[in-house]
Amino acid sequence: MEYIEPHIHMVSRVTDDYRRLARAGCLAVSEPAFWAGFDRTSADSFRDYFRHLTEFEPKRAAQYGIRHFSWLCINAKEAEHVSLAREVIALIPEFLDRPNVLGIGEIGLNKNTPNECQVFLEQVDLAVRRQELILVHTPHLEDKYAGTRMIVDMLRGDSRVVPERVLIDHVEEHTIRYALEAGFWCAMTLYPVTKCTPQRAADMVERYGPERLLVNSAGDWGPSDPMAVPDFILEMRRRGHDTSVIRRIVYDNPLRFFSQSRRWPGLS
Ligand SMILES: [Zn+2]
Repeated sequence: MEYIEPHIHMVSRVTDDYRRLARAGCLAVSEPAFWAGFDRTSADSFRDYFRHLTEFEPKRAAQYGIRHFSWLCINAKEAEHVSLAREVIALIPEFLDRPNVLGIGEIGLNKNTPNECQVFLEQVDLAVRRQELILVHTPHLEDKYAGTRMIVDMLRGDSRVVPERVLIDHVEEHTIRYALEAGFWCAMTLYPVTKCTPQRAADMVERYGPERLLVNSAGDWGPSDPMAVPDFILEMRRRGHDTSVIRRIVYDNPLRFFSQSRRWPGLS
C-alpha cells in the first residue's frame, strides 16, 4: 500500500533505508529537526543541520522516488540553553521559504522545565507570525502525561493558534484523548520498545476512530524501525479493517495535514 512516513530522522539512517521504504510503498517522508545525540555548541551547527535537512536529504530521497519534507526548530532537549536557543530561532526564518519545509517542529518539552516552556512559546509565536504549521514532540515515559497537558494548555492559551494546524506527536493511551478533544491532529509513534507497538496503535484506532490520527516510525539512530508503518498496515489488515480506513491513516491524513502548509507542492 502506498503511504507517507510523517516522522523519521533520515539524517541518522543509511541510504539503504530509503530503498527499503520505497519498496514498501513509501511515497514521501517528513523529517522534523531534533537532537543530534549530543548538545551542539553553536548556532552555526544548526545552520549546517538545516542545510542538511533542506538540501542534502531531498536529493538522497529523490534517488528512490521519495519526496522529502522537513521541519525546523530548536528541539526541547537543547532548549534548556536559552541564549543558544534564541540564536537558533533567529536564524530559522532564513530557511523557512525553502521548498521542502512544512513548518516549525518538532518543538515541545523534554523534562517539562520553565526554560523549555519559554523556548516552546517563542517558537509557537514564530510559527503563528509566519503562518507555519506546528509539529509537537511530547516527552517520554514518566514525563509524558504532565508534559502533554502542559503543551496542550499552552497552545490553547494562545488564541492565535488554530488546532487544525498543529500535530501533537508521540501520543499514547493516556494522552491521546486530551490532545484529540482539544482539536489537534495526533500521531502515534511505533517503537520496538517504548511508545506504541503497531498492535497498541491499532487498538487506539479502534477506540478513537481514524479522524485526525497518524502513525509514524520516528526512526532515528536509537532502537527504532523504519518499517514500522508497513507493520501497522499489516496489523490493521490482519484485524480485518477496510483498506479505506488504513489508507486514511497512513496516506490521506498526513496529506491533509501537510497540505495546509503554504508551501505544499503536492505529491505528483
Ligand atoms: Zn522525532
